[in-house]
Amino acid sequence: MIYDLAIIGGGPAGVSAGVYAARKKIKTVLITENFRNQSVVSDNIQNWIGIISISGEDLAASLEKHVKNYAKDIDIKEKETVTKLTKDTDGTFKIKTDKSEYSSKTVLITSGSIRRKLTIKGADKFDGKGITYCATCDGPMFTDMDVVVIGGGNSAFESASQLSSYAKSVTIVQRSDFRADPITIKKVLSNPKIRGISNVDLLEVKGDKFVTSLLYKDKDTGKEIDLPTNGIFVEIGANPSVAYLENGILKLNEKQEIIVDAKTQKTSELGIWAAGDCTDGLYHQNNIAAGDAIKALEDIYKYLKL
Ligand SMILES: Cc1cc2nc3c(=O)[nH]c(=O)nc-3n(C[C@H](O)[C@H](O)[C@H](O)COP(=O)(O)OP(=O)(O)OC[C@H]3O[C@@H](n4cnc5c(N)ncnc54)[C@H](O)[C@@H]3O)c2cc1C
Repeated sequence: MIYDLAIIGGGPAGVSAGVYAARKKIKTVLITENFRNQSVVSDNIQNWIGIISISGEDLAASLEKHVKNYAKDIDIKEKETVTKLTKDTDGTFKIKTDKSEYSSKTVLITSGSIRRKLTIKGADKFDGKGITYCATCDGPMFTDMDVVVIGGGNSAFESASQLSSYAKSVTIVQRSDFRADPITIKKVLSNPKIRGISNVDLLEVKGDKFVTSLLYKDKDTGKEIDLPTNGIFVEIGANPSVAYLENGILKLNEKQEIIVDAKTQKTSELGIWAAGDCTDGLYHQNNIAAGDAIKALEDIYKYLKL
């Protein structure tokens, strides 16, 4: 059978698209490894609009329940990993998984990304106990505290700038040279609350119940410095989950993110849309993933029906 739409992924983007597709009666298959989106590790999500506070696990469970409420209207293939996406000569797409193969007239990719983790000593132990991977999500919890941002790209500098609204001080710490745009570096470091330290070896996150300091070695002097801090924000990038696109069917940017048109979420290939954290959208959040997927779905509906 040939579906009208295949959705890849079951995070906020995939689920939102799934609900809309079902309600629009589009013949859809939603293929996902699971319904566990990236924020499942968070105890307390405070910016999922309409709900004051929810754990990541409860958010994932509510999204899963919502889309499964439409299980009679769309086919849900869970515990399947997409391994290849190709286009046939007749224009239909083949979505190969580790268990099966599906054909569809259109595809919406929402397979998200995986944040790069800090791997130094103590990083695992204090994950969620002072170490966090999202300044927008967790910044307010560190009001009036001294915090560190690890990373040297634009995201690290933008996070530092955001955090300066709450924190007493923000120190950006980077292993090599800063890689953010020079204008961004200059602007952010002109904020008296923010300073930058580059060319260090990160050695250890220390603490008792929560983080108390970051130990690093200055590569120039060889001196070890134990920097007191209550919060460490890790901004060392993310890897989009798009290994199944290795055949080059879509244009990706240098971070391997899928390049999309921001108005419609169309990709470089006619018939394929993408939304959420796997795209080159500038901001990656749950609400944005959901909204962008719905935008894509409206465009797909128009493409299929008009
Ligand atoms: C620690 C942390 C905390 C965060 N906290 C917040 C917060 O408080 N508020 C907020 O708004 N945002 C937060 N975020 C960001 C938010 O989680 C992401 O923006 C959001 O999850 C992106 O949704 P998505 O649907 O694009 O992708 P994802 O959530 O990454 O979901 C991807 C889905 O695709 C599936 N998948 C992946 N590869 C394949 C494949 N090959 N085949 C089949 N299925 C596949 C996965 O199983 C998953 O279901 C946080 C992120 C992190 C890392």
